Amino acid sequence: MRRVFAGAAVAAVVRLGFCLGGAWAARGDNRPAPKGPDEDGTKAALVKIAGEGMMESHAFQYLTELSDDIGARVTGTPAERKAEEWGVAKMKAIGLENVHTEKYQLWRGWTRGTAQGELLEPIRRPLHVDAMGWTGSTPAGGAEGEVVTANLFDIEEEVKHASRLSGKVVLVVMQGEPKKSGDVLFAIFGDFLKAAGKAGAVAVIGGQGGAKASGMNLTHTGILGFDADFAIPVLSMTAEDQGQLERYVESGKKVRVRLNVQNTFSNAPVEAANVVGEIRGRENPEQVLVVGAHLDSWDLSEGATDNGTGSASVLGSAEAIARSGLRPRRTIRFVLFTGEEQGLDGSFAYMKQHQAEMGNHLGDVVLDNGQGPVKEFQLGGRDDLVVSFRPFAQSLSSIREIPVNARVESGTDTLPFSMAGLPGINMDQDSPDYKYTHHSAADALEAVKPEVLAQNATLMALTAYWIADRPERFATPWSAEKTAKMLRAQQQYEMLKAFGLWKFGDLGAEGKGRNDPPQN
Ligand SMILES: [Zn+2]
Repeated sequence: MRRVFAGAAVAAVVRLGFCLGGAWAARGDNRPAPKGPDEDGTKAALVKIAGEGMMESHAFQYLTELSDDIGARVTGTPAERKAEEWGVAKMKAIGLENVHTEKYQLWRGWTRGTAQGELLEPIRRPLHVDAMGWTGSTPAGGAEGEVVTANLFDIEEEVKHASRLSGKVVLVVMQGEPKKSGDVLFAIFGDFLKAAGKAGAVAVIGGQGGAKASGMNLTHTGILGFDADFAIPVLSMTAEDQGQLERYVESGKKVRVRLNVQNTFSNAPVEAANVVGEIRGRENPEQVLVVGAHLDSWDLSEGATDNGTGSASVLGSAEAIARSGLRPRRTIRFVLFTGEEQGLDGSFAYMKQHQAEMGNHLGDVVLDNGQGPVKEFQLGGRDDLVVSFRPFAQSLSSIREIPVNARVESGTDTLPFSMAGLPGINMDQDSPDYKYTHHSAADALEAVKPEVLAQNATLMALTAYWIADRPERFATPWSAEKTAKMLRAQQQYEMLKAFGLWKFGDLGAEGKGRNDPPQN
């Protein structure tokens, strides 16, 4: 569900990273230099796996099957169920062990119907709109209203004055400077949608977190919170159409539109499942590294870049390791998560179902940022692991230079692992076109290059095998207190709190509790 904001100001806020202080300085002691593949005995295996991954790759074939034979796969729908069955069949064909599904309940199901828009005043023409996920319908036959704007950057004030929106079509705009970070605005935007619905607004025009579309006449659907649904119709409108409406409103022209939006909610929770398969460890099979991506997608196209590429990389990485005939010291568990797009439901369900063995987990490795090549290893908050991971990353330099940092990625299935004090490792990608394909009608196989996919799958296989096979255990979970402190330091507190996901109370807050001794 990775939030992509088109507004430049918001984007700057969202991308505000943090300074990775002290990762090197902390090693100013007598500890031996960390060992990479050249010194720790894993090199020969990695060379074999790299060969399998690059020369015998079927990742693009898997992506083609997923895109063309299954297509869109919204969590809890028959198509998504079919994708689960496909994932099971692929994992079995690759030769993974213990292949099975792990069921969980999604709070509510949703099916897209139709969405039509028409500009009535000051000129008449059709408008390009699509419904946001898990949002409601206009009355049958549609409804008309005058367009009024609401400023996302002043959204708390807008919530207070929501009564002015009665009978109106609300166009979300971005004016001035945001007072909150993009993720927090995203959370408050949900409050605004509730207030607008209560006030009797006809519909709200605004994308994920209120963001505007990226252009090229594309709409971008998506969820509007973690497990959040809204009775009011919420629409993504193309940037070109929205720009015109904004110009009309700004110049004082009266703008009227007609919208007809029909979607269906289920009355009860729906069932979904993660797809799981393993390569069992030869020495410590009880210790588990999860390698994952989300199998579910949105439904304006076939979900090739979100996250067909990640799913195909997981299968491609599993295949490269399986074909090498090598067995790592510890277990690699390949998981195709579902429910990611509704609020990381599959990965949160995984944490719950595997709670008893969390102490034996080493973290997870996820790829979910579109179609581009891997550009960064983000170790999900674990700054203590950067130093030991770096020699491995350097061993990949003849494939790609990939920097390492400890950043937390909260927009995909890495977050539940980071919240459990484990490295939720995000293989971030250089995907400049993702802003167009993200949750749009352009999210199709045409956007993906086979050679990039094969390389990403291979890098995933190498990362997984190195972590699982190196002699020293890569990571053990941090305490809740240390984890809470890290999440606060990485500016995750406000966002998690706003979405109701903060489970640490005042742990990690300034002046609260004690500092944990360093763990390694
Ligand atoms: Zn995704």
